[in-house]
Amino acid sequence: MDKLLSVVIPAFNEEAMVEKAASTIAGVLVEAGISYELIFVDDGSGDGTWEAILRAHEADKHVRGVSFSRNFGKDRAVFAGLSKARGDCVAVMDCDLQHPPEKLPEMVDLWRRGFEMVEGVKRDRGEESGFHKLCAGAFYSVISKLAKLDMKRSSDFKLMDRKAVDTLLALSEEDVFFRGLTAFVGFRRAEVEFDVAERTAGESKWSFRSLARYAVSSVTAFSAAPMQLATVFGVIFAVIAVVTGILYAIVGYDAEGWLVFLAVMGLLAIACVLVCLGVVGYYVGRAFRQSLGRPRFIISRECGE
Ligand code: UDP
Ligand code: MG
Repeated sequence: MDKLLSVVIPAFNEEAMVEKAASTIAGVLVEAGISYELIFVDDGSGDGTWEAILRAHEADKHVRGVSFSRNFGKDRAVFAGLSKARGDCVAVMDCDLQHPPEKLPEMVDLWRRGFEMVEGVKRDRGEESGFHKLCAGAFYSVISKLAKLDMKRSSDFKLMDRKAVDTLLALSEEDVFFRGLTAFVGFRRAEVEFDVAERTAGESKWSFRSLARYAVSSVTAFSAAPMQLATVFGVIFAVIAVVTGILYAIVGYDAEGWLVFLAVMGLLAIACVLVCLGVVGYYVGRAFRQSLGRPRFIISRECGE
């Protein structure tokens, strides 16, 4: 194939995986006869990830590397990779090989047939059961609706046409959210199902806290609806106030009972106001960071032509 495929691979503390990922991905692409470049983005790792990238570059000149001055997070690493990619199409995949490289030829095929955004979607195996599944299901469907994304099955494993990549790079938001923005830009889409492989080395960087943060940032990037919580609370407390007033007029004077009731309602109202302030504060924070106009990431080192 005379067309070039760039593969962007964000890597944070992946010294154990970089060389294996490079040789596995390159192996698949060479066998399929696809011209390629691999772009590893060292996201401010504290281990020997950069040295591993240099070794991978020595072993295969198709490997290029970029290193951040500190950890900026996966999404920004992906965008740094996209900005360096020179391919006619660009794939993004994890360094831990949880996104199967064997799917790349199939994705390139779809791209050749005219699809501009080929998305890897996780095969839904539904292995969890009972209460956990119920809670996770409810959580995902609320968040997905707000964020306008299928959070359960969508992944960061994608192959995009140059047009889609350039469109993404032209977006000006500082707080980039790759999965959401690829949904936002649209383009002709195709899906490729894959099974998430087990991690063979290193460890997942996701904790419950980082997942919660991810959910919040994906919702706030795509919906202003949470700020209407204030309106909802306002209406609820207005109704309570009217009903209480009427009841007080009809039922009469049990001073102590009313006092307790009013105190509880008062505290509840204050709590709701504070929660709403927090929600609005989150959006103001986003706008504030955007207004500073700082760069999305800072590159300290690069290797490869
Ligand atoms: N990653 C990154 N920066 C970070 C965290 C993760 O570049 O701050 C990379 C990581 O090296 C891997 C990919 O993002 O290539 C997915 O991370 P991980 O495997 O920890 O996530 P999971 O597969 O558990 O969702
Ligand atoms: Mg992983």
